[in-house]
Amino acid sequence: MITDRLRSIQSSYGDHTPTLVAVSKKQSDEKIIEALDAGLRIFGENRVQEAQSRWTHRRAPYPDLDLHLIGPLQTNKVKDAVQLFDCIHTVDREKLARAIHTHAPDMPCFIQVNVGDEPQKSGIARDNVNAFHTFCIDLGLNIIGLMCIPPNDDNSAPHYEWMRDKARDLKLPHLSMGMSRDYETALHYGATHIRIGSKLFGARE
Ligand SMILES: *Cc1c(COP(=O)(O)O)cnc(C)c1O
Repeated sequence: MITDRLRSIQSSYGDHTPTLVAVSKKQSDEKIIEALDAGLRIFGENRVQEAQSRWTHRRAPYPDLDLHLIGPLQTNKVKDAVQLFDCIHTVDREKLARAIHTHAPDMPCFIQVNVGDEPQKSGIARDNVNAFHTFCIDLGLNIIGLMCIPPNDDNSAPHYEWMRDKARDLKLPHLSMGMSRDYETALHYGATHIRIGSKLFGARE
């Protein structure tokens, strides 16, 4: 049951209640309905098209839905993305930053950091985060924080610690970090947005 799983996740919150982004990608309609019935309204999706088919028709019955894009975004999908989503966690290059600013100048955005310096992963390299942040601020993009996905097979703690310190340096208030396997560690290092899929919904289809 989602309500029980939700309670178990919430029981590890400390003094600061984070924003729980319920990652609904590849989940059945039944699970989505169960989550909505449990009162969840903040959902994360990693593909624009899949998110459109799952959520566009639910905007009217649930006007307080808050949809977050947590997957890679191609510039030719930005127009569609900004119509559906309320927050974008994956700003990772100048061209994308420009396109989002053009179509939705106020969109709350996170800079995605490739915190483990993995060649196959998107995100700004650690050494380039300051420069990219400056670029986004000069552009006028509404950057609210940093986001990362640490390497699968690593201990997340040192990665999250680096993220916490970098967000402090840049005076950014938000940190999107922590998934099913490591959200408790992320909370320890000051995550304000945890992105939880399987731990909440069960395995994906
Ligand atoms: C799928 C996904 C999640 C959720 O992963 P779980 O391990 O199921 O909690 C979180 N963040 C991103 C970016 C994802 O793509």
